[in-house]
Amino acid sequence: MKIYISADFEGVTGVVDRHQCFPGHPDFEHARRRWIEDINAIIEGGIEGGASEFLVNEAHAAMNYMLPELLHPKASYISGYVKRDNQMEGLDPSFAGAVIMGHAMAGTAGGVLNHSYVMRDVVALRLNGKAVGELALNAYWGALLGVPLVLVVGDDKFAEEAKALIPEIEDAVVKRGLSQFTAQNLPLQDARQVIRETARRAVERAGEFSPLELPESFELEIDFSLSEIAHLCSLIPGVERVSGRTIRYQSTDYRQVMHLRIVCTNLALATVRGHF
Ligand SMILES: [Zn+2]
Repeated sequence: MKIYISADFEGVTGVVDRHQCFPGHPDFEHARRRWIEDINAIIEGGIEGGASEFLVNEAHAAMNYMLPELLHPKASYISGYVKRDNQMEGLDPSFAGAVIMGHAMAGTAGGVLNHSYVMRDVVALRLNGKAVGELALNAYWGALLGVPLVLVVGDDKFAEEAKALIPEIEDAVVKRGLSQFTAQNLPLQDARQVIRETARRAVERAGEFSPLELPESFELEIDFSLSEIAHLCSLIPGVERVSGRTIRYQSTDYRQVMHLRIVCTNLALATVRGHF
């Protein structure tokens, strides 16, 4: 049985602040090791639950932070940027289930490091009128490929977001969010134990899960911080400028929606880097 792991960083045990999330600060090096150890705990639990193969897809920032000598020997991994399918690169119908290590959507009260793709500059996303973050958009990608989401790993607000979308999902909660940049963390060994046990259960139960139901058509709206980003995105054929800061894209093909999102959030990054 194959299990897919989309491994973002903000949900890692003990990570609460931005400087822990990017290279260049000594705390990043500690956090990076814990990230890999959390991934390994998922894999150990997954093996206990009956999985034999794991693909880890790096899903944070430059997506090239893996230290392969520390990663569990049963896992292959995808590194690098920009990947065509971004946080869900490499997923295909041969996987029995997907795991997402992540964080709550932008604007979630108490969600540790809450954001949606680009902190500050992507203010909100809506799919068919409903607020969504990275989790839901990735879960729909799983649905497109027939792979259910079976486990989320992160803080309690991320778990709540996941349960609202997929009530039967397993959740490994390693910290309680107190604000965007503060949390009460479980003792490290307890966090690992929680991850391992929920991963075992999620994999044992993988056959019970169904992928999310995909809507027949999609309307994606994105609110940006700056009108300049919306301006740039509106130059893409098919993208509508709804207001100063908001664009809209409609399609019946979720693949196109996902790829449009990838381009627009990268344009947000590029625009902000270029001017400020
Ligand atoms: Zn991240």
